[in-house]
Amino acid sequence: MVTRECDAVVVGSGPGGATVARELARAGKDVLLLEKGKYHRDLGSYLGAARMLDRAGFYKSREGVSMLKATTAGGATMVYSGSAAMPPPWLYPKYGIDLNPDAQETWEELGVDFLPDDLAGEASMRVMDAANAIGYQWEKSPKIMDTAKFVNGKCCGARTSLGCTCGAKWTARDYITQAESAGAVFQTSAECRDVIVANGTAKGVVVRQNGETAEVRAPTVVLAAGGIPTPVLLQRAGIEDAGKGCVIDPTMLVYGIHPEIGASEDPLVSVVTWEFYDQGIRLGTLIDPRLMTFFSLAKTGPAGAWKALAYDRMIGILVKVKDELGGRVDREGQVSKALTAADLEKMDRGAAISREILRKTGCPESAILQGEIRGAHPSGTCRIGEVVNDDLETQIENLYVCDASIFPEALDRPTVITIIAFGKRLVRHILAKENPA
Ligand SMILES: Cc1cc2nc3c(=O)[nH]c(=O)nc-3n(C[C@H](O)[C@H](O)[C@H](O)COP(=O)(O)OP(=O)(O)OC[C@H]3O[C@@H](n4cnc5c(N)ncnc54)[C@H](O)[C@@H]3O)c2cc1C
Repeated sequence: MVTRECDAVVVGSGPGGATVARELARAGKDVLLLEKGKYHRDLGSYLGAARMLDRAGFYKSREGVSMLKATTAGGATMVYSGSAAMPPPWLYPKYGIDLNPDAQETWEELGVDFLPDDLAGEASMRVMDAANAIGYQWEKSPKIMDTAKFVNGKCCGARTSLGCTCGAKWTARDYITQAESAGAVFQTSAECRDVIVANGTAKGVVVRQNGETAEVRAPTVVLAAGGIPTPVLLQRAGIEDAGKGCVIDPTMLVYGIHPEIGASEDPLVSVVTWEFYDQGIRLGTLIDPRLMTFFSLAKTGPAGAWKALAYDRMIGILVKVKDELGGRVDREGQVSKALTAADLEKMDRGAAISREILRKTGCPESAILQGEIRGAHPSGTCRIGEVVNDDLETQIENLYVCDASIFPEALDRPTVITIIAFGKRLVRHILAKENPA
């Protein structure tokens, strides 16, 4: 067995892991960043997306709810929508964690901004205008996108869910590159199998890479493998409460076929409403790539498959609800999460509002369809206050978690800025612990 030593080993290269690796490397630490997936380069194609996603995108909970779990350098940011939000307003009053300074710094660093009207997408702008004409309060959404990279004034439409080809959308790969520039070593196809623990303290990890098993010895271990894999690793390390309870941010697409325009080339989620936030419902424009739309609608029956042929004139509104904590992630990484009556009620309300807006936008009632419910962000599986403390440390000393699994409840908003802010805060804590003032 090969053994390697470093100051810190970070498992997983999504926004959580990439941030921690970058910040630790910039502080002069010898960092090893391990990523189970490959550095896939065939972005923007169905085959490429299938390679980046677990079970080629057909990962499902025990109850049959589809979920996307990316296994690739950069994690789920390789297929995300590039929307930004500051940490939730309840985080500080309820949990005493003030992430705002780190989130604000990240916001500025990543150049988060609203898209100008002419780049926000014609169909999306029409949805916003129609909604506001009814009396709802829709607005543009802040995006983590560099509009200078838009090609021919268009970018990051439906196909960006298969990976961004123009590079306009920020992904965690940017931070991985910066971590490497600061001296971190990044290894792909390197799966952490176990955490090495002795006398209640983390000592490193066991890694499987290229058919070989190796030990990495490090006084600091940070798990950032994502909402589903991290609780599996913690359960294997003896933390039985990991994985008990989770949230999945259930989502549903409501599609409308418009007489004139379609949204497939509009940047994803360029307009949204926060009006129903207190009721746990959020809405924004989004449409899946053509084939995904076809398969999704075909599941609703032959009429759905037939209507999917009008893809070029389709507009979509994504309904996202804040679900209640429940279910679990087991040792094999299988999610079980039944939606409650309250979750489904919110979904129905969101769908009804979306239908009303689509009608006002010009879609006939007979040309409005609803897709299946999916799980967008599996998270909250190693919650702050239960599995990790406020400093993100587990009951095993020097074993930390920094990914979507630490959310104490459904975040009810885009997660990435919050995760990055947690990462920056965690690194300050690790450095302060090593060098107490
Ligand atoms: C379709 C979609 C759209 C989204 N849109 C947005 C959006 O617009 N804005 C937003 O803020 N958020 C969005 N999100 C959510 C956001 O992308 C995720 O919440 C975020 O990426 C989670 O970050 P993470 O660090 O927890 O883990 P992940 O991004 O899941 O990364 C975890 C990494 O760990 C690796 N890994 C797993 N197991 C191991 C192991 N054993 N050893 C080594 N490596 C391992 C994985 O391969 C992966 O690369 C979206 C998500 C999806 C799926």
